[in-house]
Amino acid sequence: METITKQEDIIFRSKLPDIYIPKHLPLHSYCFEHISNFSTRPCLINGATDEVYTYAEVELTARKVASGLSRLGVGQGDTIMLLLPNSPEYVFAFLGASYIGAVSTMANPFFTPAEVIKQAKASNAKLIITQSCYVDKVRDYASEKRVKVVLIDAPPPPEAAAPAAEEEDFFLHYSVLTGADAGEMPAVKISSDDVVALPYSSGTTGLPKGVMLTHKGLVTSVAQQVDGDNPNLYIHSEDVMLCVLPLFHIYSLNSVLLCGLRVGAAIVIMQKFDIVPFLEVMQKYRVTIGPFVPPIVLAIVKSPVVDKYDLSSVRTVMSGAAPLGKELEDAVRIKFPNAKLGQGYGMTEAGPVLAMCLAFAKEPFEIKSGACGTVVRNAEMKIVDTETGVSLGRNQPGEICYLNDPEATERTIDKEGWLHTGDVGFIDDDDELFIVDRIKEIIKYKGFQVAPAEIEALLLNHPYISDAAVVSMKDEQAGEVPVAFVVKSNGSIVTEDEIKQFVSKQVIFYKRINRVFFIDAIPKSPSGKILRKDLRARLAAGALSN
Ligand code: AMP
Repeated sequence: METITKQEDIIFRSKLPDIYIPKHLPLHSYCFEHISNFSTRPCLINGATDEVYTYAEVELTARKVASGLSRLGVGQGDTIMLLLPNSPEYVFAFLGASYIGAVSTMANPFFTPAEVIKQAKASNAKLIITQSCYVDKVRDYASEKRVKVVLIDAPPPPEAAAPAAEEEDFFLHYSVLTGADAGEMPAVKISSDDVVALPYSSGTTGLPKGVMLTHKGLVTSVAQQVDGDNPNLYIHSEDVMLCVLPLFHIYSLNSVLLCGLRVGAAIVIMQKFDIVPFLEVMQKYRVTIGPFVPPIVLAIVKSPVVDKYDLSSVRTVMSGAAPLGKELEDAVRIKFPNAKLGQGYGMTEAGPVLAMCLAFAKEPFEIKSGACGTVVRNAEMKIVDTETGVSLGRNQPGEICYLNDPEATERTIDKEGWLHTGDVGFIDDDDELFIVDRIKEIIKYKGFQVAPAEIEALLLNHPYISDAAVVSMKDEQAGEVPVAFVVKSNGSIVTEDEIKQFVSKQVIFYKRINRVFFIDAIPKSPSGKILRKDLRARLAAGALSN
């Protein structure tokens, strides 16, 4: 649907009518609003242990954890850090924090200690929930800031990771939370503008920063996906949903966990993706909804073992977080004979879903391979010329701008409230959005964000490097990988391998540099901005070698 506002703005909206969104509800109340309809049904299933928690159990445990957090000194507005793989404890902690008006900042447990500490400091984490194998990543922060660390498994073993005697009361077992009395949970008044989640994203430029997602913002986003008079739009209470994407990424937290809770679906939790256990869990639990990312889709298409499993239960396959090519999309359809496959398009700063496929709307819409769906309900989208900012009509690529409840920092939101995504796309005659390019700096390795500025800062610390720039290079497995252009300091001798190792030691696996190209000078604009487009063009031309 298309309307013209002011003189020149061409606005795109959903093909479906707007819905009522209960924005006044805190996130946990919204998620559990209809719990009486499914309180005895399975809510969380631990795919590794087959443990099942019903909706009533999840809701009660979350309130106990809320009470326990508050007993440990976490108050309204405080931030806790979740440094965990997917697990039921993750869910209890996130919801528990929400109940007492606290904020969860989610970190990748594979982060290096320096990366964890950076986020803990930036978010001013008052308590960390993790497991014993990651204790060494948080020990320094915990002792410096006198912050408690709650472990979801056994306390750290005596030798390797044991705390010094004076640190002992910093390390607590998760039972201090789950053992608390839900009745003692403090009564707090939560405003819908309070922040509930603080994921980190580098947005359109620079270093990763906390994205302040409010109760209202997340309620709105979940409602846009699953509420209203269209129960089959995405999921419903009979569905079994796989939660294999990491909950520290907003895609999984929002579109899998929160959407699943809202509708009363069963959510099967897996810690990581390995093709065989993944297929076993899909078959065993008769999973109906598979929210994936392109690398998982690729693995399914390429792996010969897939055909040995019965995947006939799957009715929806969703892909998001990174581009999924038309060929791959067509190939995976064959693997899921009974499923509709569609893409969603999101961005952490948008809370995150901007567009999704309408495969299951009451009125059937054709799903076009390669499309990211149509703009979600109650929101507006426009496509603007990347040079002039003038709004464009159908079939003309430009920067995708999105209007909803503003969530992002001012740098990404303009004075009229439009969020500039840094993605380039167009909307076709059927309202389908196609993404064709990205003008922002981030590199997406298997859907994970790499901020070039972060890697460049590390490279500039190398004694033999005088200047550096990091850009993306296409890669079949990962989608994109970071590569570095490096200017050596005068007369110094340093090799590609040395530089790669120098970076690898300091960063999580997906930020590692894939190639290093030595050049005489980094191309820059008169104001000193790295001309990344020039560097990407050199890569595309393929004439680089060392
Ligand atoms: P993140 O904040 O980590 O979710 O990253 C958001 C970015 O991922 C978007 O701005 C896009 O560049 C990219 N992205 C997300 N979903 C898609 C999709 N379906 N197709 C292409 N790119 C996508």
